[in-house]
Amino acid sequence: MGINKILVANRGEIAVRVIRTCKELGIPVVSVYSTADESSLHVKLADEAVCIGTPRSKDSYLNMQSVLSAAIATGCNAIHPGYGFLSENPKFIEMVEATGITFIGPSANVVSRLGDKATAKMIAKQCGVPVVEGSDGIILDQEDGLKIARKIGYPVMIKASAGGGGRGIAIANSDTEFLKAFEMTSMEAESSFGDKSVYIEKFVENPRHVEIQIMADKHGNVVHLFERDCSMQRRNQKMIEEAPSSMLDDSLRKKMGESAVKLAKHVGYVGAGTIEFLVDSRKNYYFMEMNTRIQVEHPVTEMITGIDLVKEQIKVAYGKELSFKQKDLQILGHSIECRINAENPLNNFIPTPGKIKKILFPGGFNVRFDSHIYPDYEVPPFYDSMLGKLIVFAPTRKEAIRKMRVALEQLVIEGITTNIEYQYAIMHTPEFIKGAYDTGFIAKFNGLIQGEYNEELLGWTKRKIK
Ligand code: ADP
Ligand code: ADP
Ligand code: MG
Repeated sequence: MGINKILVANRGEIAVRVIRTCKELGIPVVSVYSTADESSLHVKLADEAVCIGTPRSKDSYLNMQSVLSAAIATGCNAIHPGYGFLSENPKFIEMVEATGITFIGPSANVVSRLGDKATAKMIAKQCGVPVVEGSDGIILDQEDGLKIARKIGYPVMIKASAGGGGRGIAIANSDTEFLKAFEMTSMEAESSFGDKSVYIEKFVENPRHVEIQIMADKHGNVVHLFERDCSMQRRNQKMIEEAPSSMLDDSLRKKMGESAVKLAKHVGYVGAGTIEFLVDSRKNYYFMEMNTRIQVEHPVTEMITGIDLVKEQIKVAYGKELSFKQKDLQILGHSIECRINAENPLNNFIPTPGKIKKILFPGGFNVRFDSHIYPDYEVPPFYDSMLGKLIVFAPTRKEAIRKMRVALEQLVIEGITTNIEYQYAIMHTPEFIKGAYDTGFIAKFNGLIQGEYNEELLGWTKRKIK
């Protein structure tokens, strides 16, 4: 039996992204929405839509019973979780599995082992994948933590084991800072993730964030689809992603790819997944965490490989073999993605929800804008501020940068403040142009634009088309 109807348990651009592929495959698709999203594009584009609750996520998109009831009521036999929300929730996956509905992703068992970051690190270590030096698993007691921090040597990071989205992470440079950070992170973890467990690891100085996309089917085939460089981050959250990474040569790429495949095979992984690594300035790489879902930045991999990852996710979920082998894959060019957010970079990136008045999407050869916004759409204040992802592809990195600049010049979103100009400015920095930036770059750059160089830097962004 194949998949005959899919429920998309998400909102925003990723829901739209998944709906598009379902339609291309000829599979009827059902959306769910909160009362704040009644007029959202994912509601309009689906074949059917079910209201699952009130605006706050916990009353709608995170309400497992409501989502599952919507799937049953509309006769869906598969659920695509997108990213965020319930996508990495083993309890939800178990509930889905128990009803006989196919979860488009790995099993509850695999997600529960990998979703807990401290456990995932131990699994990686067991199968010989290098990990960042740190505690063996979670640390419950401050004094135990202090001993480990001293042994590793400052600076260290304290990280929520259940964390995600860049939250629940703190740095400590001394014993005093450690005790403070330990308490703060535990508290934040408890309130944001309902689990106060934290673990400790060495703070890697000026690292690159390089992650490997993998894809696995139910027949034991596991391949990697190369890397994405997501070092352009603000407060541990990604802003720009590109593939391939200028940090990797062929031999490091091969080694990291093999590590990722080894880990996925070890746990019996099925579906799309990402293994995140830090790479230090001496090109040592360390496992950081695994994301057991489709990722925000998956399009850059699609662009450089020519493979629709959502289509493969769906096919694999109903038992088909992967449509390609490792040897069929090659890097066809260079791709960059800029996250376009409703936020004000000149006011500490404060979210700027509100009504969008005018929109002009850029176009042209190998320019893609994955988004759920449209003219007169009201950006609700309840969810994350991402409006869409501008993605370009070109034969070389240099051409991709030029293409991204033109696309950003021609992207118009009026009515609310966005980070379009900010992204445009980044595309002109010597560091980005050279590909010589690490995860600390944005903090430095922000220091400049908030200060006296503001005019000069943002002067680059005099937009040509309005
Ligand atoms: P990616 O790793 O795919 O680039 P992010 O880590 O930025 O994505 O997270 C993707 C989305 O999922 C964001 O909206 C983020 O807020 C959300 N998210 C990720 N992990 C969690 C989590 N553990 N709990 C709640 N939301 C999460
Ligand atoms: P999340 O689950 O929120 O995505 P990650 O563990 O992936 O959290 O870390 C998010 C980001 O924080 C990384 O991409 C990296 O920039 C930074 N980071 C995490 N661990 C370390 C570390 N040990 N040293 C330096 N930076 C780190
Ligand atoms: Mg991460």
